[in-house]
Amino acid sequence: MEAGGGAMEAGGWARRRMLGEEAGRAGALLGAFAAAVLALRGARRAAARARAPRGRRRGHGLGAPGGAGPACGVLFLGTGVSTGLPRLSCVAQGASPGSPRCGVCWAGWRDPHSPDRRNNVSVLVRFRDRDGRSRHLMVDAGKTMREAVLRWCPECFSAPGSGPGAGAVEGRGGLDAVLLTHGHADAMGGMDDLRDLQPMSVRRGGGSAAASGAGPPACSSLPVFCNRATFEVCAQSYPYLVPKMREATQKREGIERRVASLDWRLIDNTTPFEIPGGLKVTPLPLFHGGDYISLGFAFGEDAGEFVYLSDVSSVPERTMAALRRQPIKTLVVDCLLRRPHSSHFSLGDALDLVRELRPQRALLVGMTCSLGRHDDVCLELARLRAAEGLDVQLARDGLWVEMDEGAVRGARAGAQPPRQRGGLLERLRASWRGH
Ligand SMILES: [Zn+2]
Ligand SMILES: [Zn+2]
Repeated sequence: MEAGGGAMEAGGWARRRMLGEEAGRAGALLGAFAAAVLALRGARRAAARARAPRGRRRGHGLGAPGGAGPACGVLFLGTGVSTGLPRLSCVAQGASPGSPRCGVCWAGWRDPHSPDRRNNVSVLVRFRDRDGRSRHLMVDAGKTMREAVLRWCPECFSAPGSGPGAGAVEGRGGLDAVLLTHGHADAMGGMDDLRDLQPMSVRRGGGSAAASGAGPPACSSLPVFCNRATFEVCAQSYPYLVPKMREATQKREGIERRVASLDWRLIDNTTPFEIPGGLKVTPLPLFHGGDYISLGFAFGEDAGEFVYLSDVSSVPERTMAALRRQPIKTLVVDCLLRRPHSSHFSLGDALDLVRELRPQRALLVGMTCSLGRHDDVCLELARLRAAEGLDVQLARDGLWVEMDEGAVRGARAGAQPPRQRGGLLERLRASWRGH
């Protein structure tokens, strides 16, 4: 299958494939059928080339904050299993002469632009604040965060005057906040690298900090939202990223080291909160293996605009009940593999949830290689549109999904599906009251 195919195109591929199947059923000669298959492949390659010119494959092109890029939406920084794809084990095995190769990992390894190359699940939410400035919320900063930013959106984090040789700069760059779903390494293993997304804001003593002996320049603290359980894991893993623990170490060592400056903001599992710049976020507690809680989220005042459930093995009934009554536009759902798994949704689990909630569009994330090649699985899923009226696709790294700015701000224009009384926020509050 041609590399570079996008999930958004799966319906088109399916239509072409069905045309081919009908020709076969009509009794066309084998040679004609083979020619049709070749033509189909050629058409797919052409479509893939048209969809993803090489220049754009290197980055999404969101543009710097305040630039002319899209105002409101979600960029998928990563869509893969905790190991990332390609898996080291698959590449190592495939590299040994005569050993069977994993087609997914081999494709992802050989072609850096392949949709089968996947970083840890993470998204970057872009929204506009009340002053019209673009803001960015990163959801999870896992082991592959650095690679994902370099690949898809380095320009998002630029700030006038930041970077080497810059003078004193107040304020931060494009990253305005981080939001963590849970405390596993694929969600928080890249926290150390956040320091390099923080422009230095103060140069002390008129010269370079090192020359003046005043220690490294300071920077604005980056808000990090997470629940207490996740904070405790982060504090154990990165004690130097917790201000009080860092200060104690500095006092003991007599050295100020340059690390990320984070402003930890603890959230509970059910209370909506606001990201700096005015983005409303509603936590959606999920089970992620046994009774371990991971948080899903709904973004915006209209909580059905974009629902994100990245790490889930089962949905608590109270969360499910609240989701069930909410018209959902885009639903992002965990989908590790085909067989059942103890801490993640399988493909069957994910599809069951999609059938239950019937969002306008569902995108699957967290895939490992045993699920199959991206384009093949998208073709398979595209059949659900005709069969059941479901729009389900695999997400891919670099995918951009636009959000309705009015829905995010709570002033959606135009006709809406009928809403039941009480928003998701109210129902969650009510259902979890006293929990
Ligand atoms: Zn593999
Ligand atoms: Zn996890």
